[in-house]
Formats: sequence, structure tokens, C-alpha cells
Amino acid sequence: MDGRYEPVESPDDTTVFPYHDLTPPTTADVARARKVVTRYLPETPLVRSEHLSAALSADVYLKRDDTLPTGAFKVRGGVTLVSSLDDEFRDRGLVTASSGNHGLSIAWAGREFDVPVTIGVPEGANAGKVAAMERLGADVRQHGPDYDAAREHVEQLAIETGKRYVHSGNEPKLLAGVGTAGLEVVEELPDVDRLYCPVGGGTAAVGYCLTVGAVTDADVIGVQSAAAPAMHRAYHEDTLAPHDRMETSAEGVATRVPFALTMGLLRDGLADFELVSEAAIRDAVARLFTEERIVMEGACGTAVAAALEADDIAGETVVLPVSGRNIDRAKLDAFLAEYADAA
Ligand SMILES: *Cc1c(COP(=O)(O)O)cnc(C)c1O
Repeated sequence: MDGRYEPVESPDDTTVFPYHDLTPPTTADVARARKVVTRYLPETPLVRSEHLSAALSADVYLKRDDTLPTGAFKVRGGVTLVSSLDDEFRDRGLVTASSGNHGLSIAWAGREFDVPVTIGVPEGANAGKVAAMERLGADVRQHGPDYDAAREHVEQLAIETGKRYVHSGNEPKLLAGVGTAGLEVVEELPDVDRLYCPVGGGTAAVGYCLTVGAVTDADVIGVQSAAAPAMHRAYHEDTLAPHDRMETSAEGVATRVPFALTMGLLRDGLADFELVSEAAIRDAVARLFTEERIVMEGACGTAVAAALEADDIAGETVVLPVSGRNIDRAKLDAFLAEYADAA
């Protein structure tokens, strides 16, 4: 076991261990993951948004991954990764760092497969998400002022305990599992023209590139907040350098360090990568609640905002993933108040 629990040289500015296979997953891997995902999770609805379709003179469909257990798409990847662990790691358990939905995904899958899970979260993390992780049986450690401090804490724990460190992006099984949402879209709506996807670490967008992007004529377009543009810059400037600015209110897309595995696949798979303002994100979240009573996180608001800003979308068939619903209540109230004031 010499060195198995020590970090190895990483292709990006994050920490990886010898068990991190950085071979890019394929569409066939997504199809294999689907066999696992369908055993544990329901297919999610693809529902036409009458409000957005009318507002954009387009056919707009929402992929309701907010209806999954945990309230976010990431559990598709968690189930796929945890189901494939070898016995050694099933016994030792998993550690990961998360600002919320990734941790919930690993906690849910850990409970399902009876694997112990430890999650590092920053102090001040979304309290509802932290409580939900604990309810699923995870050992939650609040550590440090931000995600990176929490991440370094659990990386050290992985070295000391031999638990398996679950990276939030450099994990082919997570990517393949997350991609199953795209296979569901392809089956129901093969004529999709474009899909806007929020990008944090890039797993969701990779999943759609490997499915909707690979087997239909659709353009998959990535979207980030202009206040946290690390992956956008990595894509357009061909770099994996960390970015100093990360001020978004949407913790699902608050990334500072680009990931090598997801960025490689996004460079091949995305038709474009756009930024939207924080004000546009707040407006999108409040609008979907006000018009359709759909609760979504700011992270998904990025994709809705990008569609609302597109000037060439009339007549198109568009898919927007509702990637998660775990928005902090006070935040949603503030967005709604601002929306009402502007009306
Ligand atoms: C994690 C997350 C995203 C971004 O997904 P990545 O795979 O990290 O790019 C978008 N929306 C929600 C709700 C999330 O939790």
C-alpha cells in the first residue's frame, strides 16, 4: 500500500491521489452508469415552462433534477461513484469537501451503500445543507473561512486515515453518473436545439456535453456568474490557473480553481461559455418562483438568466436544467423582495 494514500502530481491546482483515474469518461461510460442510477434514483421530469416559452418565443423545457433525493443533480454521480468502490474503501470510508450539494450527494450515496462519509464544510456554510448532510448520517466538520480551507483539512484527513478522498471534479465516475440526466433528455426531446448549463466545477456541463452535445445537433452552452469566472476564464484563455475573484451568492457555482478533467472535456464539448451578472441571477431565481412556483438555487439561475439574455433564441427548442432547489430561505426572500420592488 506504499504511497497509496499520499497525493500525487496533479495536472491542475487541486490535490489528487493515486486512485484518481483521470481518463476522460465517454458517452458509453454514461450509458453504463445509467444502469446503476436507474436502480437507485427516479427519472426526473422534463417539463415545458409556459412562462419562459412565452417570454422568449421559444419552446423552453426545464429538466427537474431538483426533484431527486437531496434536491440536486449531483446525487446521480454520488450513487455511481460509491456503487463502484472497492472493499478497502467501503470499509475505510470517504472524505470530501463541499459547500453543499456535492456533500449531500456523497452522504446520500454513503447511507445507501453503508459507507461512512466525512464532509469538510467551511464555517458559515448553508445551514440547511449542513443539517441535511448530518441527517443522512455524515460526519460534518466545519473548518476554516472558505471552501479551500475545508478542502485542505479533509485532504490531510485522507492522508492520515487512508479514507478515499472524493474530488469534486476529477472523478470519471461522478461525471458519468451526472451525465445520465442528459441521456434522459435525449430520449424525451431529441430535437433540442440548445441547452444552457450552469458551471461550477463543470461536472453537470460535461455530462450534457457527453450526451445531448454528442448525440444530438444541440449546442451545449456553459454559464457562470461574472462574479466567479474561474472556469469561464480557463475555457476562453486556455489556462488552469486559479482565479482570485469568487464573490457569487450562488454557492453551487462558486469555483476558484479550474479542474483539469472537466475543463479538458468542456473545451471539446461546449459550443460556448457565457457569463451573467449577479443581478440577472437574482432576477432569474425570483422570476421562476413568482411565475411558476419553482424554487431554484442561484446556481441554476445562471442558465435561466443566460437564456433570458439570448437575442437569437426565438423559435428554438431549449432545455434548462433545474440543477438544485436548496436555496437558503433568507436569500430567496431577499431576491423576491428585490424582484417585487423592481416590478
Ligand atoms: C454543483 C452545482 C452546480 C454546478 O455544477 P458543477 O458540476 O459543479 O459545474 C449547479 N447547480 C447546482 C444546484 C449545484 O449544486
